Amino acid sequence: MSGNTGRVYLVGAGPGDPELLTVRATRILAAADVVLVDDLIDAGALKLLRAGARVIDVGKRGNGCRTRGSTPQAFIERLMIREARAGHSVVRLKGGDPFVFGRGAEEVAALRAAGIAVEVVPGITSGIAAPAAIGVPVTDRRYAQGAIFVTGHTQDGGTEPDWAALAATRLTLVIYMGMARCAHIASRLCDGGLTAQTPVAVIQHAHTAQQRAVVTTLAAVAGDIARLGIGSPAIIVVGNVVRAAELATDAQSVLIRAAL
Ligand code: SAH
Repeated sequence: MSGNTGRVYLVGAGPGDPELLTVRATRILAAADVVLVDDLIDAGALKLLRAGARVIDVGKRGNGCRTRGSTPQAFIERLMIREARAGHSVVRLKGGDPFVFGRGAEEVAALRAAGIAVEVVPGITSGIAAPAAIGVPVTDRRYAQGAIFVTGHTQDGGTEPDWAALAATRLTLVIYMGMARCAHIASRLCDGGLTAQTPVAVIQHAHTAQQRAVVTTLAAVAGDIARLGIGSPAIIVVGNVVRAAELATDAQSVLIRAAL
């Protein structure tokens, strides 16, 4: 391919289990020359690569060219541009869906600005797949008219979501990156008018062998996750849709139903 500029594919890897990759993602991975992967990517997805494909770990816990906790976004973008200009087929494999809290939009903009062809391959986002792993349909019409995807992580210097306003919508809240601030979020939602008994589910490592989940209430969630040692990466679901949760049937996942 040398001589021609390659192409970059921003590919959603889904929540973990490689069976939840799309057919298109599978096909693009099998043809890739270079694959940039994050921390949350399951090793199973990399088994799809052809022999000779290069894998570059650009996760936060990856190599020494970055400080923990701050992904060098500019470095990743420069790397993709360089590899594409060398004529390679470059895959940026991102957990879940590339456009859901994944900085996919920033990467598309940087690539387009550099004149690189880029294609986005959607993936199954953890905000839908993690609740589904314990039988929770985020828009179950018996309980909610819709769902809100929101980050629980406040950007450096940024403002946090208006939890009271979100509570007032009475829609299902699907919270990504919320574990470090779970106690704070639960108390702000109660201040915003949700009762302490509002059902909450926390699902960690959904669709992987390490999956664990707890079904609890706003009042108890912070204590329960601390007691059970459930941490990131996890989705927190708040709302009556959690009443549809099913007890786990397989030994690999632990589902604890606290007082509901
Ligand atoms: N683009 C991703 C989200 C990236 S933000 C997506 O669409 O899913 C990272 C956050 O996603 C984590 O902090 C966690 O809240 C969530 N997450 C990703 N994979 C997960 C999984 N397998 N189980 C539970 N939560 C997950």
